[in-house]
Amino acid sequence: MEVTSCKDCGRIFNYIGGVRLCVDCRAKLEDKFTEVKRYIEEHKNATVNQVSEELEVSVKQINQWIREERLAFSEDSSIFFQCDKCGTNIRTGRFCDQCKAEMTRNLGGLYKRDTPTRQKDRRDPAKMRFLDM
Ligand SMILES: [Zn+2]
Ligand SMILES: [Zn+2]
Repeated sequence: MEVTSCKDCGRIFNYIGGVRLCVDCRAKLEDKFTEVKRYIEEHKNATVNQVSEELEVSVKQINQWIREERLAFSEDSSIFFQCDKCGTNIRTGRFCDQCKAEMTRNLGGLYKRDTPTRQKDRRDPAKMRFLDM
């Protein structure tokens, strides 16, 4: 087992993977998450900066939760984020619904679409799809 110091409080602990936080700080972070989530539900127009100041959570941490899709702002909130792909306004995650749908389609549809022009490995569609990805 690896021994490391906690990113937050600096205490030495047995590192088991994931975020470099000791058990206590992990628990604290989860509590914070619940707090932030509740705050956003109650203050639909709160900005990230406001949440950060009110609850003493870093903007970086809030953004991370959003990108992990753990945190989402409501439909009538004035907060937006940009889709990583097309830059359109979104409220959670990294991509807008359209880009997400497109990416799923591209992944699933490659084999079908390419079939007429491809001759190689025709007998092994599973392998071919793997290569295409
Ligand atoms: Zn700690
Ligand atoms: Zn997009």
